Amino acid sequence: MKLKAMSLLLLAAVVLQAQQPPLQTPSHDDTLRGPYGPFRANNDLLYYHLDIRVDPVQKTIRGHNLIRFRMLQQGSRIQLELIPTLAIDGITLGHTPLKYTRDSGTVYVDFPQPLHAGRTYTIDFRYSGSPQETGRFGCFTFKQDPSGHPWINTACEETGASVWWPNKDQWRDEPQEGMDISVAVPNALTDVSNGRFVRKVDLHDGYTRWDYRVHYPINNYDVSLNIGNYAHFSGKHKDLTLDFYALPEDLDKAKKQFAQANGMLDAYEHYFGEYPFKKDGYKLIQVPYSGMEHQSAVTYGNHFANGYLERDWTGVGISTRFDFIIIHESGHEWFGNAITAADRSDMWIHEGWTTYLELLYVEYHYGHADAIKYANGLKPKVRNRAPIIPARNLNISPPQDMYFKGALFLNTLRSVIDDDKKWFALIHDFYQHFKYQTIMTEDVVAYFNQQIGQDLTPLFDEYLRHATLPTLDLTFNPEQETVTYKWVADEAAFAMPIRVGTPGHWQLIHPTTQPQTLKTDLSPQTFNKDIFTADTDNYFVNLDKH
Ligand SMILES: [Zn+2]
Repeated sequence: MKLKAMSLLLLAAVVLQAQQPPLQTPSHDDTLRGPYGPFRANNDLLYYHLDIRVDPVQKTIRGHNLIRFRMLQQGSRIQLELIPTLAIDGITLGHTPLKYTRDSGTVYVDFPQPLHAGRTYTIDFRYSGSPQETGRFGCFTFKQDPSGHPWINTACEETGASVWWPNKDQWRDEPQEGMDISVAVPNALTDVSNGRFVRKVDLHDGYTRWDYRVHYPINNYDVSLNIGNYAHFSGKHKDLTLDFYALPEDLDKAKKQFAQANGMLDAYEHYFGEYPFKKDGYKLIQVPYSGMEHQSAVTYGNHFANGYLERDWTGVGISTRFDFIIIHESGHEWFGNAITAADRSDMWIHEGWTTYLELLYVEYHYGHADAIKYANGLKPKVRNRAPIIPARNLNISPPQDMYFKGALFLNTLRSVIDDDKKWFALIHDFYQHFKYQTIMTEDVVAYFNQQIGQDLTPLFDEYLRHATLPTLDLTFNPEQETVTYKWVADEAAFAMPIRVGTPGHWQLIHPTTQPQTLKTDLSPQTFNKDIFTADTDNYFVNLDKH
């Protein structure tokens, strides 16, 4: 499990959060799956062994998941999930069949005698059926490649892993001892899953089972199978193994494009430290959808072209220098997979940070000026219509501002800290401190406050918990050559230094929500409402001059 205890302060924040209107109306299923309720909180996941057989002709799956957990308190019921369209073929503890109750996607498993706090138990959950395509990437798709071979893939972050396998379908608790994944497929096909390839076993019935061992905690939605007529090639980045899988007809293109994994690893290891899943290796696997950050088994469907689906993603001529899917999805190995948000509402920890990693990739390879250009290319994607962090405990995805506004906020924070050496040490240490854990926004804020030695909470809250951007209000008084400045912000305590003046002649001011007056050293010609400005390239704010 990657679990952190909630402090009282945090619980208070949760209550406050819960009062915010949700972004979309949660379904009955969301209200069951969103909260970390008593039948989840009474146990701590240790291990899964998912072992299934996939029939491409019948379009069915059949198998079981061994679920090992430690009881944290005595109890006779635990909560798991499996989509109602898949049949439960039995749940057992040793030889004892267990009773269960299904409510929407939730499965309450009941034990004949209470389980004891501190003891470890393993249940065997057998299931079968035809997974239905749903959600953005289809969740579980039975497709064919262009040459007519079966091509079967999973990608279910939004809908949840229980769309194809039974598990504790939430983000807070991960199996801390890792996972084994066994997938039996017809002999001619290959399965690529997360973790280290262990062996393949001929089952002598026309099927071969592919066994993978995941050595680290893993998000349930990262658990992935990719079945196809794959060709394989491998490489090395220092002592990290790289394994690449593509359709044979795309092999040459893949060899060229997938080489970008090296530059990605150079950049992210420079800023944050070693690739987090070294025992499992790094894989890049061709799939029929755009791509997904499946832990140690990143999937790729970006047409073997730079940019994003052959577009200049940020429109400023920089995206075309690299493959967006390789750079973005692999960034999630650090933020999303190694560090995971405990609740979906805190998903900016995945997407805001990983979008910020794109900026760092650009900075590492092309320099700071291009990174800032790239950052500013994100601005047209920001909506400012709803807070980045929605209500908690509702299984609701935050608005897309978590990506672009999230990254621009982090870039702004770098300007606030105004010391690159300090900034890079801070984000490196932040990652190292929290890797392999699930965390909440409060953990991020507390860590930054403690390391920097000042209370940045109103700043985080302004950007993450309110819809609108802070506005720097400048009132000019030409006769006295002064300008009165203040922040117009939702947080009364919002205070953020910012550079004002003219490009190349900035001066740092410390506005709060109370007006202050500045007498500039600018000449009367440049001290002019039309020329005097703020460094909005490095601080993501609105400007109101009058
Ligand atoms: Zn992402």
